Amino acid sequence: MLDEFFQTPIEYLKGVGAARGAALKKELGIATYGDLLQHFPFKYIDRTRFYKIKEVSLELPYVQIIARLKHKEIVGEKAGKRLVASAYDETGPIELVWFQGIARAFQNLVVGKAYVFFGKPGFFNGKPQIAHSETELYGTDAAKNQGSLALQPAYTSTEKLKKFLLDTKGIQKLVAALLEQYGRNISENLPPYILASNKLIDRRIAYQHIHFPENFMQLKEASKRLKFEELFFLQLKLLKNKLFREQKFKGSIFGKVGHYFNEFYTNKLPFELTSAQKRTLKEIRLDTQKGIQMNRLLQGDVGSGKTVVALMSILLAIDNGFQACMMAPTEILANQHYQSIKQLLGEGFVEVALLTGSTTRKARKIIHEDLESGKLNILIGTHALIEDKVQFKNLGFVVIDEQHRFGVEQRAKLWRKNSIPPHILVMTATPIPRTLAMTLYGDLDVSVIDELPAGRKPIETKHFFESGRLRVFGFIKEEIAKGRQIYVVYPLIKESEKLDLKNLNDGLEVMSREFPLPEYRISIVHGQLTAADKEFEMNRFVKGETQIMVATTVIEVGVNVPNASVMIIENAERFGLSQLHQLRGRVGRGAEQSYCILMSNQKLSKEGRIRLETMVRTNDGFEISEIDLQLRGPGNIEGKQQSGVLDLKIANLVEDQPALQQARQEVERLFKTDPQLHLPENALLYQHFQQKSAGLSWNKIS
Ligand code: ADP
Ligand code: MG
Repeated sequence: MLDEFFQTPIEYLKGVGAARGAALKKELGIATYGDLLQHFPFKYIDRTRFYKIKEVSLELPYVQIIARLKHKEIVGEKAGKRLVASAYDETGPIELVWFQGIARAFQNLVVGKAYVFFGKPGFFNGKPQIAHSETELYGTDAAKNQGSLALQPAYTSTEKLKKFLLDTKGIQKLVAALLEQYGRNISENLPPYILASNKLIDRRIAYQHIHFPENFMQLKEASKRLKFEELFFLQLKLLKNKLFREQKFKGSIFGKVGHYFNEFYTNKLPFELTSAQKRTLKEIRLDTQKGIQMNRLLQGDVGSGKTVVALMSILLAIDNGFQACMMAPTEILANQHYQSIKQLLGEGFVEVALLTGSTTRKARKIIHEDLESGKLNILIGTHALIEDKVQFKNLGFVVIDEQHRFGVEQRAKLWRKNSIPPHILVMTATPIPRTLAMTLYGDLDVSVIDELPAGRKPIETKHFFESGRLRVFGFIKEEIAKGRQIYVVYPLIKESEKLDLKNLNDGLEVMSREFPLPEYRISIVHGQLTAADKEFEMNRFVKGETQIMVATTVIEVGVNVPNASVMIIENAERFGLSQLHQLRGRVGRGAEQSYCILMSNQKLSKEGRIRLETMVRTNDGFEISEIDLQLRGPGNIEGKQQSGVLDLKIANLVEDQPALQQARQEVERLFKTDPQLHLPENALLYQHFQQKSAGLSWNKIS
């Protein structure tokens, strides 16, 4: 079989055995030959370069020099016993010491001959020194053709492994042994035509050269091949899962557009839909007519109007005799959805209920009954919706807001609430870079609302240092005089000992002094308030009873106060880009010109500066997410923990965009010509799948 060799337990490799095998497994997760081969070097030490002795400095991690041996001597007693040698080139002397293997090293060194010394440089009594240098007689084959060691691979290891003599050198030896003994068992897994059209080298050679390149060219070719392979199979798996799901999971058919949809559209919808909203609705409508379960990700910047799209899809479900539910990550958000949906629908149109942790037992009982009888059309709520007690008569459509806050298993539970799984619409306001979405959600269909409702004035963003604070206060007063409301957001509730952060209470004090009663009224909301207190304070602001809301980031998602026109973010340099963008999205929801003011420390890190500059420059969530990706790397992108697909061994989604595109194109072409992988030229790929994609895991679903 194709990958049998890769699956061989690591302890079978000569020189490993049970104890080292267990340590490798525990410390680095290396359990098989394949794992060892894919324990790629994290860097290469360039042994093509020779230094002069006077160039040796502590800044160099390694040096390689050519020097003639002048003197050698074993000194000291017992534990202090060591071999000390001195050598020189035309620029000066260097000292070489050995604390172990003294006798052998002594024997090998011949005074008067030139050697290549290689090792980590140190200084002793102000003189350059190398301890335990690797030593080759200069001019011999070994030194001249460093051969496979021209670029020496460096491997991650751990203190524990070093006790098993598995430091970088020890691991290198294992890899070399594995390649030498079994390298020929590495078989090709890409068809020749794909290798040819993408100019990729053979897989076996790639593994050889990624570990032991003779030069940079070989390294580049090897890395290109292995990255392509990784990205190609990742995409292939995602698309294959999608195909599999489409074949396996039937979906309800929403055959007609009926009374509820039409009535809402003609008589209730208070605005014209944007063309992006229309397009998205059309996509959902098509999806729900195929008899296949829909799994669609709806991406749209804050304020782009995702809710109404979800609502109209829900009405479509109701028109076809189904119930629907909408799940939000927090009670505040669920509540807000409930309020705004009720308002949009008006009285006596369809039955809507709200179910959260604080729903009373009595109300809960009624909801359960009405759901099962079918009386209730729409249920909005938090994860309370998932509980087994919540049973629908006929659940046809599920909306999940802010998807990254829900666990995979939670979502899967919603699936099982109906004999035919409901259609799923996942909404996220955290734009994921298109390129990343392609990889993360390769098996989901993606709709993008890339347009804000007309008439919205873009939010103006400005950056101020502390010196500008008085101007900012003046500006706040002007806005309040015009009847507007203001948010002031702080990064932390308690002052941390180390960070000089302006904490919320300090801030509140300053604000109260600057904006005194009775003219000004301030709401305060933070994570340590009870839900009821939070609600109370929030409501005062929502109703316009207070003009200023001083808060921590709890207001990040959800709150919709169209009259709020200024968002002030204190210590803005402490926030991540996507968080800044989310916060900014709290304003600009009404017709008024809105502002976002970023207050920061005078001293900014390079990254901090880029973040603030980006915010000032653009309102485009997608552009911001691209920059965020570049600043932070894909490992930190929200939501990726759940996808599990970013466990890449060699490719990097930021740096390897071109390879990603290339692999993607190849996969798409493949699915057009041979989706079942039945053509003889794709036999290798077919085999790969027979082994690898045994089942469908829930985490590939929504
Ligand atoms: P988000 O995508 O952030 O969830 P919402 O759905 O909350 O955005 O919409 C933000 C605001 O814009 C709401 O007050 C909503 O009623 C309004 N809105 C949505 N679509 C339109 C539109 N096409 N024209 C005007 N206003 C709209
Ligand atoms: Mg929303």
